[in-house]
Parts: sequence; structure tokens; C-alpha cells
Amino acid sequence: MSPPLHHINTSPKPPASADVVVIGGGIIGVFTAYYLAKRGVSVALVEKGRIGAEQSSRNWGWCRQQNRDARELPMASKSLDLWERFAAESGEDTGFHRCGLLYLSNDEAELSRWSSWRDFAKTAGVTTYMLNSRQATQRGQATGRAWKGGVFSPTDGTADPAKAAPAVAAALIKLGGSVHQNCAARGIETEGGRVSGVITEAGVIKTRTAVLAGGAWASSFCRQLGIRFPQASIRQSILSVSPVEHRLPDALFTAGVSVTRRNDGRYALAISGRARVDVTPQFMRFAPQFVPMFAKRWRSLLPGGLEGVRGGHETLKRWRLDAPTPMERVRILDPKPDLATVRETHRRAVELLPELREARITDAWAGFVDSTPDGVPGIGEVPSIPGFILAAGFSGHGFGIGPGAGHLIADLATGAEPIVDPLPYRPERFSGSAWGKVADF
Ligand SMILES: Cc1cc2nc3c(=O)[nH]c(=O)nc-3n(C[C@H](O)[C@H](O)[C@H](O)COP(=O)(O)OP(=O)(O)OC[C@H]3O[C@@H](n4cnc5c(N)ncnc54)[C@H](O)[C@@H]3O)c2cc1C
Repeated sequence: MSPPLHHINTSPKPPASADVVVIGGGIIGVFTAYYLAKRGVSVALVEKGRIGAEQSSRNWGWCRQQNRDARELPMASKSLDLWERFAAESGEDTGFHRCGLLYLSNDEAELSRWSSWRDFAKTAGVTTYMLNSRQATQRGQATGRAWKGGVFSPTDGTADPAKAAPAVAAALIKLGGSVHQNCAARGIETEGGRVSGVITEAGVIKTRTAVLAGGAWASSFCRQLGIRFPQASIRQSILSVSPVEHRLPDALFTAGVSVTRRNDGRYALAISGRARVDVTPQFMRFAPQFVPMFAKRWRSLLPGGLEGVRGGHETLKRWRLDAPTPMERVRILDPKPDLATVRETHRRAVELLPELREARITDAWAGFVDSTPDGVPGIGEVPSIPGFILAAGFSGHGFGIGPGAGHLIADLATGAEPIVDPLPYRPERFSGSAWGKVADF
């Protein structure tokens, strides 16, 4: 039940050496490698399955500043510019456009939270408009009902998850970067404590810098290296429907259901925050750190099943470096969508936008969202292994900030002036007992 995804051809054999090796070809890995290659750094990217095939092709496609946590807002703003600049400088199409995001509500408390966020965002130079009832009803006329209020964020937009990561990988290849699909990294070699190579299933790539952009697999990979990275995966389900005759809003959020227009005219439908929690050994290990987050979101989290164990991405087992690892057994993490959620999402979407009654369900899929205890990613060199940079735990909102995060990681890898303050992301924060504030989003 994989979502649509563009395919790119890559070379089967990785090089013997590279200045930097990026592990993972999701949106974070490809943008990291792209910004490294642009600086003339020799870079090899290894992806165990297909470029973009996990979270990066399974999401809504929202690239938003709206309602971002303060720690991520600077990166979100930079990313919007970088999405545009990437298209102009590479000629590749990620489907990004600043269509603006529309939020509608009849709940005073929700409207008041959006209004407070608008006031905060103003101080960061971000413009977003609160809509009164008349304006909200007019902008949301496709729903055929009245709304108490809403928000329109005109500078935000969407990119196409089917196109984005492959487009960036294609641009990377044009710059001379090497990309290798069906090539899992099994581990890291060190000399004198520093990274000296990445062990892949197709041989060792000598390097002094390795970036782990492994999404939901990052924590179990870290465990092999003695690094404790608390991560929990939750399974979100989503569906898409065929184009309809009258154009609906490009990107509409309501508490009940959200709707996003894809480049091919289809609409992706989902319920914000609704997810299944599939218990795994790793989940049990880190559960105490996730209590505040789960307490905050308990209304939208439902008990799951065995999908997490089946995926193998949250194993606590140690694997050998000279034999196939769990990453080679599961090339693409493709969990089953939760059919009850899919049905409920469709029902709510048709109720919200009657025009969708004409549409046919074309696909339904799920993705494992890799969360950290505070809902903010871990990005930075891990102090215990110089040369090893972690870039994971994007907690359900890493697609939109992919370009900014990739730029920051390339800055850290090359010692350049960081594009945003890296401090809120540093992985060391996970080693203490203080977990900080759980992100609002
Ligand atoms: C249903 C859903 C809706 C979402 N909606 C949004 C949204 O609207 N906006 C937004 O900003 N974000 C959204 N997100 C979150 C967003 O998709 C992710 O935060 C983002 O894609 C993470 O990118 P990534 O590159 O870190 O991870 P991934 O895309 O998961 O990529 C990680 C890659 O690493 C590879 N890998 C792992 N281990 C190894 C290894 N050892 N060797 C080689 N390769 C390896 C995997 O195969 C995978 O391809 C959503 C997520 C889901 C599931």
C-alpha cells in the first residue's frame, strides 16, 4: 500500500571513499547531501530501499511556519525560501508552491491559541492572518457552512511528497554526488574514536564524517554504536482520492479532517494527530521519557498492534556487520494503514466538502512518524563519536523543514556558519533527565 513515488536510477556500487557519507535517502538525507555537493564536498548517499520511500513520500506535503514551535520557526522560514531557490537553481520540480494554508474552526479555545501564535509569530517577522467569521466562511465556501473564524498563512505552502526527495536526489547526482539505492549502511568504523568509514552491504566507504538521516531506524542504529537516542514511532494513516470537477482549497486544516491538493489533482485526506501506537521493545525502553508527550496527545492516540514489531525498525537486538541486518530484510517500511481511521477520515472529508462525494479512493497508506520526547529533532555531532552527525526524530513535521535542516547539517559537517542556531536541536539534550518543553503543533 505504498503511496505514489517518482523513481530515479542510481549506481549500484558505492565509492571507496567520500568526504561525507549520508545514511538515508529521505528528504533530510537528500537535502543534506545536495548542500554538501553544492560546496564541492565529495558525498555518497546510501539508501537501503528507494529514495523517499518511507516518511518522505507518505506525508501531507505541508511546508508551514503556521503553528510551529518557537524552536523550529527560524528553520521553517528559511526552508520556504530554500524550497523556492532549489527549484530555480536546479531546474528540478519538487511541486513546491506557496499556496497558503487555510485553517478553519468553530472552537473559541482553538481560535484563541491561533491568535496567540499569530502574536508570537509577528515578533519573529512571520505574517499570518486571523480570519473573522465572515472571512473564514468566505474562504471556506467549499464547505458550504459558516465558520466562527480561522487563519490564513499566505507565505506557507506545499510540496509534492511523490516528487520532492527524488527531485533533490536527481539534482545531487547532477552536481557529482553519488547515490546508491538498495544499499544499507550496517555500521560505522572508527579509528582513535573518530569515524573512519561507513560499512555498507556493498563494502566499506572510507570517510571522516557520517550523517545518520535514517528516520524511524535511527535509534536502533545508534544503539549499535552505544548511543542512546530516545525515539518512538507512531503509525499515521492517510488516503488519497481522485480529482473533482470544482477546485477545493489547496490545503485546508480543520480539527476533524484535513485536505491537501496534490500536483496531479488528487486530494490527500487525513486526521491531524490521529495515530496508532504499536508497542515494540524499543518503545517500552523509552516509554518513561514519552509520558509527557503522550499525556498531551492522548485523545488522538489509539492502541496499535504488531506493525511495529513486524517493521523491525525498533529492535533492541545487536546485529552483525558481516551479515544481512534488519535494514536489508525490510527495504521499505510500509506499515498497514488503519482501516477504521481511513474510513472515518473519508466520512469526515465528504461531510466537510460535499464535492468529494464524486471522488474515488485511489490509495491508502500509513507511515511511521519518528518522534523525540520533546517533539523537536536531534541534529548535531554526537560528542562520544567525533565525525558522527545525527539528524533524526523529526516528529511528524520534518518534510517542510527538509531544506533548512539539510542546509544546517551541511553547515555542521563543513564547519560553516550555521543557517540557524543549532542549539535547540543538539542531541546531547536527550542524555539528561530534563526533557524540556513538549513542542506545540
Ligand atoms: C502521515 C504523515 C504525515 C506527515 N505530514 C507532514 C507534513 O505535512 N509536513 C511535514 O513537514 N512533515 C510531515 N510528516 C513528517 C515527515 O514526513 C517526516 O518528518 C520527514 O519525511 C522525515 O524525513 P527523514 O528523511 O528524516 O526520514 P524518512 O523519509 O523516513 O527517510 C529515512 C530514510 O533512511 C533510510 N534508512 C534508514 N536506515 C538506513 C540505513 N541503515 N542505511 C541506509 N538507509 C537507511 C530509510 O530507508 C528511509 O528512506 C508526516 C509524516 C507522516 C507519516
